[in-house]
Amino acid sequence: MSIEFATLQPTSDPIAANSFDKDEFDQAVMSTYGRYQIALERGAGSRVWDTEGREYLDFVAGIATCTLGHAHPAMVEAVTRQIQKLHHVSNLYYIPEQGELAKWLVRNSCGDRVFFCNSGAEANEAAIKLARKYGHTVLDIEHPIILTAHSSFHGRTLATVTATAQPKYQKNFSPLVPGFHYVPYNDINAVEEAISELDEGDYGVAAILIEPLQGEGGVRPGDVTYFQKLRKICDETGILLIFDEVQVGMARSGRMWGYEHLGVEPDIFTSAKGLGGGIPIGAMISKKFCDIFQPGEHASTFGGNPFACGVALSVCQTIEKENILANVEARGKQLRAGLQQIAAKYPHVVSDVRGWGLINGLELQADIQLTAADVVKIAIDNGLLLVPAGLKVIRFVPPLIITEQEVATALEAVENAIIASTAVG
Ligand SMILES: *Cc1c(COP(=O)(O)O)cnc(C)c1O
Repeated sequence: MSIEFATLQPTSDPIAANSFDKDEFDQAVMSTYGRYQIALERGAGSRVWDTEGREYLDFVAGIATCTLGHAHPAMVEAVTRQIQKLHHVSNLYYIPEQGELAKWLVRNSCGDRVFFCNSGAEANEAAIKLARKYGHTVLDIEHPIILTAHSSFHGRTLATVTATAQPKYQKNFSPLVPGFHYVPYNDINAVEEAISELDEGDYGVAAILIEPLQGEGGVRPGDVTYFQKLRKICDETGILLIFDEVQVGMARSGRMWGYEHLGVEPDIFTSAKGLGGGIPIGAMISKKFCDIFQPGEHASTFGGNPFACGVALSVCQTIEKENILANVEARGKQLRAGLQQIAAKYPHVVSDVRGWGLINGLELQADIQLTAADVVKIAIDNGLLLVPAGLKVIRFVPPLIITEQEVATALEAVENAIIASTAVG
């Protein structure tokens, strides 16, 4: 692929050249993130530059978010158009861009109707609220319970961090939200047992919220038979099947949605990260039970505004027009083949390579000290941005416009980082 990237020439940029001061930043910004010691200020395509002028190949893409990379002309055009035309009005009124984006999502998925918000956590919150109301009004359950999977990730709000069945994210935030129950991922017996155990008195399972491929939990693809049995159980019991497609959806997996790899369709699914190509937007899409929410029952001030929807629509149209899915498929194959070669060459270091399309993980052996963070640090020093997914998995989620040459460059840098990190450790 070859694309001309827009180079912005701002008339007054508050970030003056070489003015970045890390200590001043840390004084002013709350310390919720462990940050790598670089400050990024510019990007084009799959490359970004830091405040010292160093170039990096970006295999993080804002964590599976910058679908079209940085400064893609279609996004620059859409952002410019939308800010000049209309950027925000309330959902008190009809918003044409919101309708167009909803129509695109409905046309390109199993879904029938869309609710818009601003992030993945908010999309999951909407799904959780919908599932509870469905439990009360359709299944007649006084205390509806939502099943989620161990190692899942659904967000950081109180309800979504409760849904996220990983103690490290929940520690010190109790009391958590009631109404969630956790089961192991890809284990159908555990689901069947939980449903029958929880079906007692006023309690019962109303929904299963699950990722088709666990992203944060270590890039773990769902098992086809497991998901097909989940679908069957939900069809038989009326339990809602909700897929969290926030990370794996929107063409990242080589198909438009992760569920297409599993041969099952959800009743509800959520999208965010890649949907706006890096502009904040989230969506909950329903296939069944589209009318559970009545006017006034759920809302978002920013959700579905003309700016976010106009830009997201241009991202979606570009995915179609530039045949991005074919690139994801080809570059994903190239990347996995290269990572598998590295795994074969260093079997004492690498235990597994897995993923779909351009969401891939390389897992380090459990019995060595080396962590994913160790390798990522060295890769960054060598000009390649990577991100861990848990303790032992290095994640590869580049922009979906990544080129053959860039994948080759990244593979070389990964091998060098592994050599360097094992030499040190
Ligand atoms: C990132 C992520 C979320 C949370 O999205 P935010 O936009 O950070 O709230 C939820 N689910 C999955 C699967 C994610 O990867």
